[in-house]
Parts: sequence; structure tokens; C-alpha cells
Amino acid sequence: MTLDEDLAQHPADTEWHRLQKVGDVPDGSWVTRGPANAYASVTMRPLEPFLVPEKPRGGELDPNDCHSCRPSEHTIWHDEHWQVRGGWETGGLPFIGAISPREHWLLEDAPVEMLAGLGPLMQRISQAVKTIPSVARCHFSRWNDGSAHLHLWAFARPAGMMQGRGAVLSYWDGMLTEMPETMMRDYIEIVAEALAEQGGQAFPTP
Ligand SMILES: [Zn+2]
Repeated sequence: MTLDEDLAQHPADTEWHRLQKVGDVPDGSWVTRGPANAYASVTMRPLEPFLVPEKPRGGELDPNDCHSCRPSEHTIWHDEHWQVRGGWETGGLPFIGAISPREHWLLEDAPVEMLAGLGPLMQRISQAVKTIPSVARCHFSRWNDGSAHLHLWAFARPAGMMQGRGAVLSYWDGMLTEMPETMMRDYIEIVAEALAEQGGQAFPTP
């Protein structure tokens, strides 16, 4: 059986899915009423069919293909269990980082003992990111649609940026004036060194 045959998709059919109007254009003005006051108008594309089973995420079928498991030049800090990566490309936000275990765990199967280290690490990352000049807050997200390997995102919210409050912050990275690469590297170094002060290693050799 080929992968394509194995993944023959069909519309999802639940009470919730039957409520949705596939093909209709959603009213994007809802987004303009959000707390961040960032959008003047939004035009949505028609609602696409909800198809299942979904295509597998990175590393889902074969952990040997998982990018998060491989050494990376973008690892800015790690300790025995966890790693933080960043600096893939310059953007407008002062810092974006990805936090993941060094071993291939999903949230669903990760050992509780290892997960127990995540809370203290988030506290350390938040404090480290806020030592960057220009940063007021560090937001975390856990969107797990790209890679199966457990990962969280850390986003630096610039000081005074009320239009960047909440989930809209991640979109601002592509709309604010892009940082020069040297500034991005400086800010990454601030975070990596601050993390390493309390354990682990900044910029480990890939
Ligand atoms: Zn992995």
C-alpha cells in the first residue's frame, strides 16, 4: 500500500463539523475587534473542507526523519534534557525561540519526570528573554501542527506594543521592520548566556 492510498482522505463527520459551512467566506471583521487593535480589515478565503485522516507531521511516521532530533547550528542552548533553538532568519520580533526535549518525545508519551522540568525552564526562558533591551514580555505557545516532536514557541513582545498583545504577536514578526542580523545575533546571545548562567550550555557544538 502506498502512502497516498494509506492516507485517502474524506471529510470529517461529527456534529461540530456538520455545523460548519464549507465553501462560505467567513466574516473576517471579527479579527478587527480583537483586544490588540491590530487589524483594520481582514478578508478571509472560503472555508476549506475538513479532511481526515490528516497528513502526518514531521517525524510522525519515522522519528529518524525528525529535524528536532538532529544536531542543529540553530541550537542556542541545551542541557541534559532540553534544547532551545532560534535564529533561523531575521524578523521583526526581538526574539523567537523553539523549546523542545532533546529526545524524540510527543507531549502524549513524554515521561512525566522529564515534563516536570519544563515549568522551571519556561520561567528561566521568560526571564532570559526579558533581559533583552526592548522586550516587555515573553509569550509561549504550543502549536503542534508542523512537527510531531514536542515543542513550544517563545515570542518576545516589544515594550509598549499594545498592538502585539496576545496571539497576534506571532504575525507581527513578518510585518515589523526586520532586525539587522547583528542585532538578532546579539539578542540570541543575551538569551543563551542568561540561560547558561543557571545551568546547561550556550551554543553547544552541533
Ligand atoms: Zn524528534
